[in-house]
Amino acid sequence: MNKPTFKIISKDGKARAGEIKTDHGIVLTPAFLPVGTKATVKSLTPQQLKEIGIEAVLANTYHLHLQPGEDTIGKLGGLHKFMNWNKPLMTDSGGFQVFSLGVGLEKPGVKFLKDLDYGRLKIENRTLKVEDRRSNHHPSSIINNLSSTVNPLSSNEESRPRLNRITEEGVEFQSHIDGSKHKLTPELSVEIQEKIGADLIIAFDDLESPTYSFEQTKKSLELTNRWELRSLKTHLAFQGVALEPQRQLLYGVTHGGQFESLRRESARFVDKHFDAVALGGAHRNKSNMYQVIEWTVEELDEEKPRHMLGIGEVDDIFEVIERGVDTFDCVIPTRLGRMGHVFIYPPEGNIKNRFRYDITKSKYAKDQRPIAKDCDCYVCQNFTQAYINHLFRSRELLAYTLATYHNVYFINDLTNKIRQAILNKKFIELKKKWLL
Ligand SMILES: [Zn+2]
Repeated sequence: MNKPTFKIISKDGKARAGEIKTDHGIVLTPAFLPVGTKATVKSLTPQQLKEIGIEAVLANTYHLHLQPGEDTIGKLGGLHKFMNWNKPLMTDSGGFQVFSLGVGLEKPGVKFLKDLDYGRLKIENRTLKVEDRRSNHHPSSIINNLSSTVNPLSSNEESRPRLNRITEEGVEFQSHIDGSKHKLTPELSVEIQEKIGADLIIAFDDLESPTYSFEQTKKSLELTNRWELRSLKTHLAFQGVALEPQRQLLYGVTHGGQFESLRRESARFVDKHFDAVALGGAHRNKSNMYQVIEWTVEELDEEKPRHMLGIGEVDDIFEVIERGVDTFDCVIPTRLGRMGHVFIYPPEGNIKNRFRYDITKSKYAKDQRPIAKDCDCYVCQNFTQAYINHLFRSRELLAYTLATYHNVYFINDLTNKIRQAILNKKFIELKKKWLL
């Protein structure tokens, strides 16, 4: 097997159109990776994902480690075979789920200060013992940046792990399934990801809080750097000794919170040691996140692929791609779809309504139009708002499939349009059309 490679095809400003080549196929970038937390993109079959045009899926290491376990997946031929997805796969390190106690479970990475109150609500009743940390900021750093726009999921929809202890060695936590105790270390995270067998894997990192001071953030970054080097060492050793070496591409993760000097230091560190870069960590707010990308990208080798963890709002997609991000993963289209929030194109869709509406509202009960005007997806070509509204109100399972299908199609279609615009040197034109 060959290690995945990346090449830039065309640039428009800092925005890049490229391709990631893997043994399981090519991912044309910029690309959106839907999240398949437990080895499935909820409510969609792999065939439907292909029909939509999805080229790669991200699965969560934490969940697969606990159930069914990496050994089981390995024995059954690896994750591609197990979930019958023969195209590229990415796994995260599992760290985010453990650190975040599951708030925003499917959504690794990006965190904003403004969402802290929501995170606190979620964790208020938990007993937390975080060794070597004076504040309880770590757990409450947790953000679900959907919280400001949609109703939180019902509490039983996504169970949560419980964080027990952070040490130099790694993280101890309790399973959200049965309360059993587990440990996740950089070595173990990489080993699990090797066994699962995704094409693109991610190094194990510490998660800073957006409320951390400079000193606290620096301390967290230093721990991340040590953990990332241990991840790399395990990765290289594994590839050397495995009987059938899986040639995977390991992404280093950038951190450093909201601070420019730390962000630049982190970017240089990851660039020095890794062939691919994932942008992670906490941010003060959206504008700080965009700034962080600019600082980071300035320190990176242009030839390496860049993945942004956990973004997927329409405006963010434009802003991060404009700054040189190649791929991103997000639960927004799938999670919102299951709640009946569906995406719409401009001019009906705009920044103000966040390009979506709630199809479960009674005003759509008799509407014979499709979810979105101008949408070419299977759902919009074949079903009315009235029918989908009825499915949601009747709690029929097909509601989740149809809404998710349309939403994943929408985000993928937008990303394809952006790629075309970059190839035609018309990125800014397209951005204005959508965001003005
Ligand atoms: Zn549609």
